[in-house]
Amino acid sequence: NKIEDDYVMGEALGKGKFGSVFLCRSKVTGVEFACKTLPKGEETVHKEVEIMQHLSGHPGVVTLHSVYEDAESFHLVMELCSGGRLIDEMTKEGRYSEHKSANIFKDLMLVIQYCHDMGVVHRDIKPENILLTASGKIKLADFGLAMRIANGQSLSGLAGSPAYVAPEVLTGDYGQKADIWSAGVLLHALLVGVLPFQGDSLDALFEAIKSMQLDFHSEKWQSVSKLARDLLERILTRDVAARITAEEVLSHPWMMFYTERTL
Ligand code: ADP
Ligand code: MG
Ligand code: MG
Repeated sequence: NKIEDDYVMGEALGKGKFGSVFLCRSKVTGVEFACKTLPKGEETVHKEVEIMQHLSGHPGVVTLHSVYEDAESFHLVMELCSGGRLIDEMTKEGRYSEHKSANIFKDLMLVIQYCHDMGVVHRDIKPENILLTASGKIKLADFGLAMRIANGQSLSGLAGSPAYVAPEVLTGDYGQKADIWSAGVLLHALLVGVLPFQGDSLDALFEAIKSMQLDFHSEKWQSVSKLARDLLERILTRDVAARITAEEVLSHPWMMFYTERTL
């Protein structure tokens, strides 16, 4: 079957590096999905599909519904995340309360832990790739840079988005812990509304990632708990062996305290 036989295309939902994502509706069931179209010749499409299928057992991963192929492209029909991107919510919100930050971060860590347990490094954790359902639950998307690695194996080669990239990715071998660093960059942005590492140029940004010390004495941190700062320090540590794992993040006192139900 061709995709046109089974789905009606709707408006654009987003544009990425290689392809674009459109709303679509099943002609048979009437159910809406998101369709990511990727041009052929990209060897990585097969890997993206394979990894999404491998990870399909978790509610925090965008589900791949079906795949179509025509002369020019692959079409990935995915579960629709109608709540949009976390980045857009963050831009509106400015900064989040510790309760809200912790609840989002817990859901993110649960899905990252699942990926890591399944032998996958996402390599592009950032709020542009975290989508929201109609009810506001997070879904991890965009496995275009994800890699499967065997136990003890490591990756090399620069990948990811500059502001979120871990220092070891810039300098050598890395693995699952690179995702934890990127999530830490996101946590910083949730808590204080700005990215931790910035620079006027790519070189300046990478220099900051490799050496800049976070200033927890600055004004913006005064309203944030010491527990949150402690967790962030354990995540944004350049010593990869010392950096905490997803499992350890989930049992950190800040997570325990702020994800307790408030009602
Ligand atoms: P790229 O690899 O090109 O970055 P993504 O998979 O990140 O592509 O998708 C690009 C954009 O398309 C996302 O940032 C988002 O706005 C939108 N998008 C992707 N998947 C979905 C989905 N399942 N539901 C709703 N919007 C989506
Ligand atoms: Mg993306
Ligand atoms: Mg991608």
